[in-house]
Amino acid sequence: MRTALSTLEVVRPRGLKQALEVLARARDQERWVPLAGGTDLLVYLNAGGFDGRRFLDMWGLRELRGIRVGKSAATLGALTTFREIREHPLMRRRFPALVSAAAEVGAWQIQNRATLAGNIANASPAGDSLPVLIAHDAVIHAQSIRGMRNIPFDQLYRGYRDLVLERDELITAVTLPYPPARSVAFFRKVGTRRAQSISKVVFSGLIAFDGRAGVTHVRLGYGSVAPVTLRARHAEKALSREAPSPESLERAREALHRDISPIDDIRSDREYRLTIAANVLEQFLRGAHPGFAGRKASRV
Ligand SMILES: Cc1cc2nc3c(=O)[nH]c(=O)nc-3n(C[C@H](O)[C@H](O)[C@H](O)COP(=O)(O)OP(=O)(O)OC[C@H]3O[C@@H](n4cnc5c(N)ncnc54)[C@H](O)[C@@H]3O)c2cc1C
Repeated sequence: MRTALSTLEVVRPRGLKQALEVLARARDQERWVPLAGGTDLLVYLNAGGFDGRRFLDMWGLRELRGIRVGKSAATLGALTTFREIREHPLMRRRFPALVSAAAEVGAWQIQNRATLAGNIANASPAGDSLPVLIAHDAVIHAQSIRGMRNIPFDQLYRGYRDLVLERDELITAVTLPYPPARSVAFFRKVGTRRAQSISKVVFSGLIAFDGRAGVTHVRLGYGSVAPVTLRARHAEKALSREAPSPESLERAREALHRDISPIDDIRSDREYRLTIAANVLEQFLRGAHPGFAGRKASRV
């Protein structure tokens, strides 16, 4: 049954410090649920069965807004919306895979409200931005009144929808190091249709080459193929330090089976997901370097 709004309590802190104090005071009592764009939380409330009754509305917290351009990295405030990501010139230039993911999160109405930190904290294995954060070695900044800590994104989830965040911690920002020189980034979401679907498989990759050393850097992030978004380390290993070739591609496809463990569910089945996960990897690699298709590179 739909949750009656009259039963809910909402506080709107004036600043980040006050927000963190509210969370800290309630450490041993009923929790204040952080509320950002509300695109997940309001759906849960509408469906009923969500047990949170107290909400900390963060929408007005200026400290959590904006994209800061640094020398070696960009830092996105927790409340950065997918529309802001799509439209930011630096994001378009340096993080095209994240821009592609942002463009596939729902429609404009959702992208205007949905935040990056909300996508992260909601922790759906199908969250579209999450494989990109893996591919880019994102670092999550989590803050409480006890201070700030930095969590590498690939260590954020303990299990299905289970984050290492403490009850009184907020995600305040996400840092993305700039990709290595001459790297190629990729994003691909496979759903039931081209737009506004939940992923059956979602993938992002980042790869860099050196003429002699072959693959010098590779990150492969997958969603919807395990209880958490994950890094495909075996497949990465099959590619690292190898010259791009059809054989190394085939080894990576095979190694991928040791990284992912998709399930049958209402959106897809295990076999389909295994095949598609390997196919999108192949699509990425062939597009990134002609050597994976068995052709000679004219320029590396
Ligand atoms: C119609 C529709 C279509 C959608 N399509 C897609 C899609 O294609 N792909 C996709 O990935 N998602 C999709 N979503 C899901 C959703 O838009 C995203 O997950 C969104 O990014 C969540 O952000 P939010 O700001 O709305 O979070 P909220 O709903 O406000 O919060 C979500 C969760 O994150 C927590 N939270 C939020 N901010 C913080 C913070 N700073 N620190 C700690 N915890 C925090 C909240 O407590 C809550 O548990 C869709 C949703 C709808 C309604």
